[in-house]
Amino acid sequence: MRYDEYGRWSRRASDWIESYFATIDDRPVRAETRPGDIAALIPESAPEQPEPMETVFSDFERIIPDGLTHWQHPRFFAYFPANAAPASMIAEQLTSAFGVLCMLWQTSPAGTELEIAMVGWIRQALGLPDSFRGVIQESASSATLTAVLTMRERALGFDGNRTGLAGQRRVRIYTSDEAHSSVEKAVRIAGVGSENLIRIPTDDADSLIAEALSERIVEDRRAGHIPAGVVAVIGSTSVGASDHLRPILETCRRERLYSHVDAAWAGSAMICPELRQTWDGIEFADSLVFNPHKWLGAQFDCSVQLLADPADQVRTLAVKPGYLKTLEHSGVVDLSELSIPLGRRFRALKLWFLFRAYGLEGLRSRIRNHIAWARELEGRLADVPKIEIVTPCRFSLFTFRYRPDNQDPDTATRDLLQRLNQDGRIYLTQTIHRGQFVIRVQVGQFDTTRDDVLSVADVVAELTSSDGSA
Ligand SMILES: *Cc1c(COP(=O)(O)O)cnc(C)c1O
Repeated sequence: MRYDEYGRWSRRASDWIESYFATIDDRPVRAETRPGDIAALIPESAPEQPEPMETVFSDFERIIPDGLTHWQHPRFFAYFPANAAPASMIAEQLTSAFGVLCMLWQTSPAGTELEIAMVGWIRQALGLPDSFRGVIQESASSATLTAVLTMRERALGFDGNRTGLAGQRRVRIYTSDEAHSSVEKAVRIAGVGSENLIRIPTDDADSLIAEALSERIVEDRRAGHIPAGVVAVIGSTSVGASDHLRPILETCRRERLYSHVDAAWAGSAMICPELRQTWDGIEFADSLVFNPHKWLGAQFDCSVQLLADPADQVRTLAVKPGYLKTLEHSGVVDLSELSIPLGRRFRALKLWFLFRAYGLEGLRSRIRNHIAWARELEGRLADVPKIEIVTPCRFSLFTFRYRPDNQDPDTATRDLLQRLNQDGRIYLTQTIHRGQFVIRVQVGQFDTTRDDVLSVADVVAELTSSDGSA
């Protein structure tokens, strides 16, 4: 295929996409294929000779869509959303055409300068101090890894990068049981070791207990370890819990620990001023990550890391061999100094399109609706016989379980979840909360409606009423 045929095939793809969205409602949300079904349809080796695009495209139509779980389906209530707002999709199409890498200012000045501008828009939209700087990372996992590396290096006087960790005292990092698995992964990759990720107990609201954190830091110092940093969470993945940032971040300041706040999902909600009391004290964080690619509407991948002062992170990550030096301009920012991969996609374009096509008010009203509808659904489900709400609606996420008479609730809930997802009308996932198997419901798909959301209660009622025991 040649560049001068792009329009033809691109139009074919756009037409396909438009009809996909027009009929997405009719598809089962979760793929109904069995393991190996799709693999069996793919030849074992790449073709030696070119194939006509017509064949490529018709094979795509025949094989791929039925093997997908439809994340843009309005009744996708699983995991967290990964929205692809149409305006963001258009920007991604343009980004894919340029194929630019934005590691240095000069490798695409518009990439770097639009990224800095978009981080500024986001900083204001979230109500953060003007002094915060930032960068767009590929994922919250990488932002958390960079923060953990920075914690480690700061605590070791920036010696770890040079000498390695052998023979060092133990570097300690603190978080709670609600922390996302990416925190554990980060301490492993950073060479800190999972034994040195200390889980501070949580209270009844699943929030880290700040006094327990202070005590543990003192104990660890006494034992000769090096307390380095804290990863707090706003809107945990399991049940949407949030830590009380103010006392935690005060402790960090007092003890000279680096702080990172993981607000990967719930950060999007902070564009609504009335929700910001949940992260009261955020202005004292050293680092903060949130994913516009979850709830806000920017297509994956787009994870914004904001930093009170980027200097420590640059000192931790920047490596500049001769072939990467910028020769003709001084004073330019090379954003790869803040990220792990060198090559960086042009991710700012989709944020620019997103903010302009919907406006902050448009984005806020979606989030407000999602929260209101999630609460309404929580109320309706609470009225379904034998259904028990386990964790209350936090932002737009709550959990429930099923307790029919004479049946183990974990088994009954697991069975119910399987039946709900096989039914195909809705898609939900599970978590374990305080040892119990529970079903999560999150509301956040870009174009979901109140009817879509409330339909969860109808489907649950329908599939439990036939149980006899209900
Ligand atoms: C989704 C999520 C992550 C991981 O995000 P990625 O961008 O996929 O790495 C981390 N923390 C929380 C709280 C999340 O919800």
